[in-house]
Amino acid sequence: MYTDFQKFLRSELDSIEQAGLYKNERIIVSPQRAEIKVSTGADVLNFCANNYLGLSDNKELIEAAKRALDERGFGMSSVRFICGTQDLHKALEKKIAEFFGTEDAILYAACFDANGGVFEPLLGEEDAIISDSLNHASIIDGVRLCKAKRYRYSNANMEELEQCLKEAQAQRFRLIATDGVFSMDGNVCPLDKIYELAQKYNAMVMVDESHSAGVVGKTGRGVAELYNLRGKIEIHTGTLGKSFGGAVGGFTTGKKEIIDLLRQRSRPYLFSNSIPPMVAAAGCAMFDMMARTNELQDRLHENTDYFVAKMKEAGFDIKPTQSAICAVMLYDAPLSQKMAEKLLAEGIYVVGFYYPVVPKGQARIRVQISAGHKKEHLDRAIAAFTKIGKELGVIK
Ligand SMILES: *Cc1c(COP(=O)(O)O)cnc(C)c1O
Repeated sequence: MYTDFQKFLRSELDSIEQAGLYKNERIIVSPQRAEIKVSTGADVLNFCANNYLGLSDNKELIEAAKRALDERGFGMSSVRFICGTQDLHKALEKKIAEFFGTEDAILYAACFDANGGVFEPLLGEEDAIISDSLNHASIIDGVRLCKAKRYRYSNANMEELEQCLKEAQAQRFRLIATDGVFSMDGNVCPLDKIYELAQKYNAMVMVDESHSAGVVGKTGRGVAELYNLRGKIEIHTGTLGKSFGGAVGGFTTGKKEIIDLLRQRSRPYLFSNSIPPMVAAAGCAMFDMMARTNELQDRLHENTDYFVAKMKEAGFDIKPTQSAICAVMLYDAPLSQKMAEKLLAEGIYVVGFYYPVVPKGQARIRVQISAGHKKEHLDRAIAAFTKIGKELGVIK
């Protein structure tokens, strides 16, 4: 049996490789941070991590995790509702809700699970989910698991959203689902307009804050802060795997009854292990830090503004961004790969994206800024971009 299947898999793998889409992994042999060492022995500056607040190697979080490891052990060996809940998990959920200005929160092993488990328990076939076309894969999968009628609007297109809402008046309940920040462009969803339309057409709103939490808004409380909508959005989902320390874990936070019902019926919560005590403890320490100081958010915003301004000055075409994601537009797929390769040789680790990850003719290099970058790191990246950009004729 396997011989035939093996042949089939080989040809699938070959076609992925021939299309130039085979994903190879670069191996890091240092902690995740601004300056990393890769397995070739090279030291490079990292501009492609979701480590927006630079917390992946933060001393305070590491200490909190170590303490919990000593005091609470390694793993929970249980789902939450059997014997997988420590006071640490409850404390972390409370801190997540405080951070977002919501009523309650529920933890998952990942945001992929939070999104996978949020729609199906809440909505049925008499309801509607209206989804942005660029939403994250986990939202798309979560929607697939739910029987509600599906509507889709082009990225951030409010006319299309309104049209969907009109059609969805036929359904019992309506939920609009959107990413807070879209990860390829760095644009923020127009939550003000989405909320307005939701009010007008009697719909609820779900925002995935994975790339926006810790980043967007003056104090990094996400898109709801940016648009003065704290406490008004029914559902936020998010990850502990990006800004918030980068380890692992996800959450859903919002209205109390929604969270209550998810605890009863959300399958990734009911049938998957609880996050390790050390991750919960480090998460608590992280939210305490967020409550105490805005230093990291301020530094991130300064770094992003500085990088974007200098890159534009150098002549690069940067997509308008309200996040820490800067898309350096090149419009040519082979060029994006070549440029990323040459930048790596200059010690700048960035990734080039092209179709089908982004639309045809929209190839780019995505740069992710961090509070962990020092000005000197940013200057080195800008100098390398300028040098290689000139070499490849991207800028004059
Ligand atoms: C990264 C990401 C996720 C997945 O988060 P994990 O915790 O790594 O599973 C979900 N949604 C969005 C929008 C993301 O960017």
